[in-house]
Amino acid sequence: MSSMVNPGLFTRRRFLAWSQTALTALGAAPLLSSGVGALAETSASDTADDYYEKLGVEKIINAAGTYTYLTASVMPPQVQRAVAKAALHPVVLKDLQTASGEYIAKRLRCEGAVVTCGASAALTLATAACIAAANNTKPDQIPEDVGAMKNEVIVQKSHRYEYDHAMLLCGVRIVEVVTVEDYKRAFTPKTIMTNFFNSADESGAIDRQTWLEIAHQHNVPCHMDAAADMPPISNLWKYTGMGYDLVCFSGGKGIRGPQNAGLLLGKKHLTDLAAANNNPNSDAVGRGMKVAKEQIVGMVAAVDWLLEQSDEANQAEYMRRTDIIIRMLKDIPTMRAEVFMPEIANHVPHLILAYDPQVVGITPKQVQERLRTLRPQIELNPATGSTGRLGPHSNENTIVVGTWMMQPGEAEIVGRQLHAVLSNPKA
Ligand SMILES: *Cc1c(COP(=O)(O)O)cnc(C)c1O
Repeated sequence: MSSMVNPGLFTRRRFLAWSQTALTALGAAPLLSSGVGALAETSASDTADDYYEKLGVEKIINAAGTYTYLTASVMPPQVQRAVAKAALHPVVLKDLQTASGEYIAKRLRCEGAVVTCGASAALTLATAACIAAANNTKPDQIPEDVGAMKNEVIVQKSHRYEYDHAMLLCGVRIVEVVTVEDYKRAFTPKTIMTNFFNSADESGAIDRQTWLEIAHQHNVPCHMDAAADMPPISNLWKYTGMGYDLVCFSGGKGIRGPQNAGLLLGKKHLTDLAAANNNPNSDAVGRGMKVAKEQIVGMVAAVDWLLEQSDEANQAEYMRRTDIIIRMLKDIPTMRAEVFMPEIANHVPHLILAYDPQVVGITPKQVQERLRTLRPQIELNPATGSTGRLGPHSNENTIVVGTWMMQPGEAEIVGRQLHAVLSNPKA
């Protein structure tokens, strides 16, 4: 094998050698470098070292969903190719940030957009933008001077969450409200913004429409955290269309862009202020939230890819995988399968496998652990064997499987391994 010469490659090399001379003679260096780049790119993924293997990090089957701790999603091949191609050339970072924002804003039907370092960074930049809008500050004043400025963010008590940290980073103060009356009373001359955690909509007394209207009566901008709320695809313009001033999405969850990318969408004057508080400005809260050129391009390519998709076809494919697993577990005693689809956030089929651990001889938590020790390693949905995460749909007697992040052929492997563990509990 090693002595064989690939005739195609040989010919192409010869052509490049020839064209190199010819183009240099013509003074056409840019064309030349892209030709060499294209050759490097075609061979990149087949010849690259497997660094997961080299580092001893196990590759997993994702039977969970777009969870951050499982690296969320895998980029589709056309996005991977766009990332690899972007890696071949330097650009002016600010130019790429501006152009990608304008392109995405057009495609997602809003005035302005920023590719951010994830939804969490989008929330930080949104907060910085609202501080700047209310106080007419410079980026270098955040967070140090914010204590003495207009600095209040209104949030429903039931919408308090771990990502509050992303706002607090800017030095703001969170004002909690419960009822509509509280909310109306909470606006003061120091209010700079409100935050609405979209998937907590049902848990609060104030719905997303009312929330927005009251804020706008006080001329205060509203940010919505919709990080995990695609699908459906149309959510990418639904909330900005409603009038939300700023909306963030995770780039690496359902959108399947790079995990360290995200989107801040909304009113142009605010996304411009968000960009001013972002890197490459070194004296800004967003300095540590850099998205590399490869990932900015990956985010744009993921938006392009997504807009070619159909929600119906995707959901049908997730259901097909779900059915494969259900069929493979038919003969497990006491097993009942249910498919649950959350209304907002991770709006995809969740397979709930309920059974009697006494009869089967192994608990869902033990199954989850066993699947981690087998190869290939399978990670089940974190709601497995626990109450609360999926409301009444999961408990200590249920295994939860997410099929939407599985790759071709993996549903069969998950079904087979689940069957092996459940039918052989003492192994
Ligand atoms: C995942 C998530 C985030 C953070 O998203 P990243 O893109 O990982 O920064 C923020 N808010 C909510 C509601 C999320 O689900």
